[in-house]
Amino acid sequence: MRATIMYGAGDVRVETVPDARLVEPTDALVTVTRAAICGSDLWPYNQMPPSESGRRMGHEFIGVVEDVGDDVRTMKTGDLVVAPFVWSDGTCVLCREGVQTSCLHGGRYGSDGVDGGQGEAVRVPQADGTLVVLPVERDDALMPSLLTLSDVMSTGHHAALAGRVGPGKTVAVVGDGAVGLCAVIAARRLGAEQVILLGRHPDRVALGEEFGATDVVGERGEEAAERVRELTGGLGAHSVLECVGHGESTLTALGSARPGGTVGRVGLPQEDTIPHAVSTFFANIAITGGPAPARAYIEELLPDVLEGRIEPGRVFDRVGTLDDVPNGYRAMNEREAIKVMIEL
Ligand SMILES: [Zn+2]
Repeated sequence: MRATIMYGAGDVRVETVPDARLVEPTDALVTVTRAAICGSDLWPYNQMPPSESGRRMGHEFIGVVEDVGDDVRTMKTGDLVVAPFVWSDGTCVLCREGVQTSCLHGGRYGSDGVDGGQGEAVRVPQADGTLVVLPVERDDALMPSLLTLSDVMSTGHHAALAGRVGPGKTVAVVGDGAVGLCAVIAARRLGAEQVILLGRHPDRVALGEEFGATDVVGERGEEAAERVRELTGGLGAHSVLECVGHGESTLTALGSARPGGTVGRVGLPQEDTIPHAVSTFFANIAITGGPAPARAYIEELLPDVLEGRIEPGRVFDRVGTLDDVPNGYRAMNEREAIKVMIEL
């Protein structure tokens, strides 16, 4: 079969690899029908040291169950399934406590002998705990939005929950990438009244406004935080959703929260320290967040997608085939595309 391999910064190739196959009785073999390139795939795309063996890529996909191991109970051959961006058993103590991303028997796609999602097929470990069966046909018009449940929409929702968004709250979303745009959807969905989107790409902020952003701030750094305070009666936002992970965006996020407010972080941190430790302490600002337990959110968000109340699939502004994947990385990296969907 064919799959995407990254050999180093800027070096993504689609190559023939050994066919995916069942190994454990808890596995499902899934033929991928839709996959996506993630903003987090761009970190290695910019920084990965050269590697002889390379690294299999992709963690967002929908596909058809081709075969299941003897212990798999909740799906059968022919079912259409969506995969959250990590796999988990759904039964260990941490899964039951709602942090499937820290599952004691879980792991990531593309490592330890598990295929990546940007390929023709994936062996999905812990299939019962991981995959969610979709009640639609494989080429349903809702496919782009359903695919966002793998990661970006679930991650935007996590930012909003971590940031304690609720009815009547003022929210600042830092970042206009796919996750930031989904965080706007999530904030409105949870009843936020004012949603300030911090971003500077005209096409992205325009989509953010269609998703329900009430204000847009194009400044960066301390100037951006100053603008957020101006827009919130001088106090800052109740909930700040950090959807980038850079040092500067984190600084902006922490500076934009009002006393007693919350910063929900879902951008993969690129630095080991959190700035503003003293000022956030004195202002009682909570700093929370982390990787989204997407598995827990897929079932919660699915009815809203199926019934058309949210349309996160609009973040996909480019569609390609598996052969287009290397160019898709380039396009996202150069901000030509917000997010690329791959049809197989
Ligand atoms: Zn678990």
